[in-house]
Amino acid sequence: MAINYSSTRGGEKNVTASQAILQGLAKDGGLFMPDRIPELDCSLEKLSHMTYQEVAYEVMKLFLTDFTEDELKSCISRAYDSKFDTEEIAPLVKADGAYYLELFHGSTIAFKDMALSILPHLMTVSAKKNNVDNTIVILTATSGDTGKAAMAGFAGVDGTKIIVFYPKDGVSRVQELQMLTQKGENTSVVGISGNFDDAQSGVKKIFGDTAFEKELAARGYQLSSANSINIGRLVPQIVYYVYAYVKLLENGEIADGEQINVTVPTGNFGNILAAYFAKQMGLPIAKLICASNDNKVLYDFFRTGVYDRRREFILTSSPSMDILISSNLERLIYLSAGSDPERTKKLMEELSKDGSYTVSEDMRERMTDFAGGFATQEENAEEIRRLYKNTGYLIDTHTGVASCVYRKYVRDTKDQTKTVIASTASPYKFSRSVMEAVSGNVEGKGEFELIEELEKASGVPVPAAIEEIRNAEIRHHRQCAPDEMEKVVSDILK
Ligand SMILES: *Cc1c(COP(=O)(O)O)cnc(C)c1O
Repeated sequence: MAINYSSTRGGEKNVTASQAILQGLAKDGGLFMPDRIPELDCSLEKLSHMTYQEVAYEVMKLFLTDFTEDELKSCISRAYDSKFDTEEIAPLVKADGAYYLELFHGSTIAFKDMALSILPHLMTVSAKKNNVDNTIVILTATSGDTGKAAMAGFAGVDGTKIIVFYPKDGVSRVQELQMLTQKGENTSVVGISGNFDDAQSGVKKIFGDTAFEKELAARGYQLSSANSINIGRLVPQIVYYVYAYVKLLENGEIADGEQINVTVPTGNFGNILAAYFAKQMGLPIAKLICASNDNKVLYDFFRTGVYDRRREFILTSSPSMDILISSNLERLIYLSAGSDPERTKKLMEELSKDGSYTVSEDMRERMTDFAGGFATQEENAEEIRRLYKNTGYLIDTHTGVASCVYRKYVRDTKDQTKTVIASTASPYKFSRSVMEAVSGNVEGKGEFELIEELEKASGVPVPAAIEEIRNAEIRHHRQCAPDEMEKVVSDILK
């Protein structure tokens, strides 16, 4: 049965999956939602004998109903290939009683690769299907990882250009070098003098500017998004939760149908929302534990029902989670409001006007699958050190937040349900913070010195993504203020 997509704010209705992917954001500023969440139509037992690519097809075909089998399978096989350094694509590592789902084996060593290695293929198929001749310009705001992963995916892809905005002082050195050394004539990177929320708001503003849209169309361009608001990112992210479950089943770690919990280090609420979709599809997930760093807007929200972004923006050692406006939460709000676009729209308008909103009791009751938690920077470092000392397993600062929140959750609730922790980045991507947590001795040391120390400590060889930037040339030099973003886009597309 075909699935169509409508805006969470009611302004756009019943577009196909390929149209929703092409567009990214709905024209009314809302996010596209499927008209229903399909149920898995293949048994868990059967799925447990499948490869990652096969599971991906079984999940994605249910959402992308206007793609043919050949189209979808070809996208999947081109995405999940030797760009990943392991055939499992997303391996599980058991450490200290929890299962760490390593989502960082793609080309940019963060979980964004899981969706961004397939999005360009979904996008070009979608363009063909809808007879689009314009060049598609991907505009992306990044808190550090999306930018590189999106560029790696779109670099050299015919008919596309990509422009990435990142907070100049809000990313790790490895993240910044990865972006600034990106090759490909169709890629541009711009550092902004602001934080991630400024970058994301700026991009959303450009999407909402219809006069600019017309001007670009006259020059043969149309905009789209590679941010996690794009349904073409959300759907591929569901796959690895199903895959993790069925691999636990195949390995005899759980019984068929046994419920598991998942813990996800959260920023824009995309990754954990994908887990929620997996649950809605019938995957036996009990609790979704939403882990925040010091920017604990979501923790407060799940605790009180009040979403309040009016607070200090804190730069932390887990920069990809330094976010106060979690865009994808709008999709949970919409579902919890009984798929009512009017209610959703009103709350989102309050957020942009007043900086906060409060959800009603009935909506909160529909969110009880979620548990919120947060970890301070000290707690995070302590957890990274503890896990390493006890098991030899070294995790990055984002996974550290999740791991810490999970341990606190178990301590407080005594819930012994087996738990998958989304491990969202390689520790190499945040070597300074990771080595500081482990050895406490990083003063005056260079990035690559720390990387070598990390290799000794973890026993995991330095990934190719790090070797690549060691001597690479800096190719991007643009910077601007948040209110100049539209002008910069216009200049780049001259
Ligand atoms: C993007 C990112 C996150 C946050 O994921 P969301 O989908 O934005 O919630 C967490 N960890 C890392 C390493 C990331 O790159």
